[in-house]
Amino acid sequence: MPSSVQELLARERAAFDERTPASGRLYRRAAAVLAGGVSSSYHLREPWPVYLERGEGARVWDVDGNEYLDFHNGFGSMVQGHADPVIGAAVAARYAQGTQFGAPAEDAVAVAEELARRFGLPSWRFTSSGTESTMAAIRIARAFTGRDALVKVAGAYHGHYDGLLAAGGVEWGDSDALERLILETSPACVIAEGAMTSIGVVAPPPGWLDALRELTQRHSVVLVLDEVKTGLTIAAGGAVERYGIEPDMVTLAKSLGGGLPAGAVGMSPELARLVADGSVPQLGTFNGNPLSMAAARASLTEVLTPEAYERLERLGERLRSGCEAALAESGVPGHAVAVGSKGCVRFGPEPVVDNRSYRNRRDAELCELAWLWSMNRGLFATPGREHEWNVTVAHAEEDVDRHVEVFAELAGALATRPRSGSARA
Ligand code: PMP
Repeated sequence: MPSSVQELLARERAAFDERTPASGRLYRRAAAVLAGGVSSSYHLREPWPVYLERGEGARVWDVDGNEYLDFHNGFGSMVQGHADPVIGAAVAARYAQGTQFGAPAEDAVAVAEELARRFGLPSWRFTSSGTESTMAAIRIARAFTGRDALVKVAGAYHGHYDGLLAAGGVEWGDSDALERLILETSPACVIAEGAMTSIGVVAPPPGWLDALRELTQRHSVVLVLDEVKTGLTIAAGGAVERYGIEPDMVTLAKSLGGGLPAGAVGMSPELARLVADGSVPQLGTFNGNPLSMAAARASLTEVLTPEAYERLERLGERLRSGCEAALAESGVPGHAVAVGSKGCVRFGPEPVVDNRSYRNRRDAELCELAWLWSMNRGLFATPGREHEWNVTVAHAEEDVDRHVEVFAELAGALATRPRSGSARA
């Protein structure tokens, strides 16, 4: 006997297939020349992915002409909203002057100055992606310490570099286990986010970031704070500013380029010396690409202003409290979590505090239902997550309220259709 959630899922899948036939056709064409029909394995979806045509402000349109309010935002890399006119003008002006020289240019200096101000680290290098940023940080830490091992948090994603793809590691928040692992492996660095974003959003428990800093310092281990997702989205200076942690290195990417590929590594003076004197190669043809740097400069200085961060905070909290109220109203067990512009809903009575608690209760069917439910009602959402959002400076309060309305309908449907053979909603 199919459960009610399964019935809802079948209905939503059929409706979505019906709304996206042009994506289906484009998928068949794409699959002949792109492996799986996509450019990144994160875009794979059965029976086909949704192909987008354009975006403007808080909205995107797919190739079938469906309009969505975008809460996916390129995995959180478009905190400025789509096609921001200020960034657009900077990119157009730069394009007319040439876009790639393989020689340094002034915009990179201005961007580094602004990053140094926001993150409190004096020295920077640029890359083209988050993976390149974390890879470079690890190389620098290894050269600095003369050690090879690295420690990461269980379930954390830091990029598609072989050495970082391991799922294992120390559980988020477990400082005793962190110290044991440091003593056992004598690593070059510990790499961690300031708020976890790869298992939905998990804020740091009290004392955890202090322990991370204190233990790495005590054992002369480099602390790399991976701010690829959090860096320019949860505060102007990311987790460094929001939580007051002082890492040895910061890695950035995603929202840095205002929609163009750009990454960065921030370093303490001791670490930067190794890069500056050439003993550690930090390389890349497109590093500090003038087009990306022009976009980053306009984004950091004119779009992501102090008022923009106040707005992100306000919108994020409005969305979180709206979803929380919808859960309470429906009686569906769960809660909503937000850190600045990023947030998610957790279904189930228990909070998610680390990878273990996430894995134990993750319900793939419910994740897919929440995604399809949003997509069928005009909310573009991150696939494969419980119910996740990124708000941008382009979102209005009405956009957030529409999101809450759609979520409340889902909670209502789940409340009236309890899952057969399970206590879970
Ligand atoms: N670090 C973190 C925390 C990330 O979330 C990601 C990407 N999701 C990366 C690094 C890798 O970034 P990129 O996809 O730009 O290589």
